[in-house]
Amino acid sequence: MKKKIAVVGAGFSGLALCYYLLQYGGGVTLFDGKGIGGGASGIASGLLHPYPGENCLLSWKGEEGMEKTKKLLKLVGPHVYKETGILRLATSEKQEKVFKERAREREDIEWWEEEKCRQFVPGSHFLPGIFIRSGITVHASLYLKGLWKVCEEKGASFVKKEVFLPELDSFDYVILAVGGGIRSFDVGNALDLKFNKGQILVCQRPHYLKEESSVIGKGYIALSESKERCYLGSTYERDYVTEKPCLGVATDRILDQIGQFMAATNPFKVLGCFSEMRVANGKTYHPIAKKVSDKVFVLTGMGSRGLLYHSYLGEKLAQEVLL
Ligand SMILES: Cc1cc2nc3c(=O)[nH]c(=O)nc-3n(C[C@H](O)[C@H](O)[C@H](O)COP(=O)(O)OP(=O)(O)OC[C@H]3O[C@@H](n4cnc5c(N)ncnc54)[C@H](O)[C@@H]3O)c2cc1C
Repeated sequence: MKKKIAVVGAGFSGLALCYYLLQYGGGVTLFDGKGIGGGASGIASGLLHPYPGENCLLSWKGEEGMEKTKKLLKLVGPHVYKETGILRLATSEKQEKVFKERAREREDIEWWEEEKCRQFVPGSHFLPGIFIRSGITVHASLYLKGLWKVCEEKGASFVKKEVFLPELDSFDYVILAVGGGIRSFDVGNALDLKFNKGQILVCQRPHYLKEESSVIGKGYIALSESKERCYLGSTYERDYVTEKPCLGVATDRILDQIGQFMAATNPFKVLGCFSEMRVANGKTYHPIAKKVSDKVFVLTGMGSRGLLYHSYLGEKLAQEVLL
């Protein structure tokens, strides 16, 4: 008999889990209090590459993560992502040095001199950088909707409802993929997790930015689904008054970062702002995919790299649950 599984949370983690659980023969009911992509995944800027941080080092399981995420992106369709590379500008001499090293080490990274970067990003300061050929920009909301459609066609059902463990007793297994919602579960409090608020700005895209690639400097300019708009990101706020969007704080902090690699920020007319909570593993910064009791599992701690890890860990956890 098919195992009855409740997946709580319809973000990157929950939807990837849902897909792989169905693949491995489970029967899945997906719950989300806010709808598909109602949490951080739905507002993510969509940057996907395996070289994060100041030093641009290959992430833990970076290659595996890219491969597995690409599998799901392809399944959903070409309209939900742009496989057009990502430019990272070096904003300090130290970064210039490590970026050059990375370009020597990694096949998918090219070193670009100042002139080439400036032609690619008109209006930027005269900075060198690296072009990550494998970089992808995902249109998060479209991707999540598309992935849900795939799961629905494979037999999953969706219930728009905030749920907690006692009411899920009739399921064989429950998997919590609840993002910041983990703070409402005892099992979450037992994990060493850190939380920070992230905000992004939705802006009009200046007409002179023609290249179809996202650009990272201090902060970033991410492509959106529409050529007219872009996302500028992002804040990392440990102290905040509210988890809701604060346009003033977001505008000040994000435009300040963008100003460190773009000569003028006023052409980016701000149209709006989104905020959500990031959840990170307080110990290793690796996401957490594990069993926490007889029938409860968690997939959490994706930090800023939900796109890189959701498919890879979603499959691993689905295998642990069902095989
Ligand atoms: C501003 C910002 C920009 C980002 N940009 C990027 C980026 O460019 N690239 C990248 O890889 N990552 C990015 N991230 C990080 C990424 O968004 C997260 O890693 C990812 O969304 C985590 O996915 P998740 O499915 O674990 O959680 P979430 O997407 O938060 O999903 C959890 C879901 O659970 C639901 N839920 C919670 N509690 C309950 C309950 N009790 N019952 C029912 N439903 C519940 C919520 O409504 C929510 O929909 C960004 C994050 C922020 C904040």
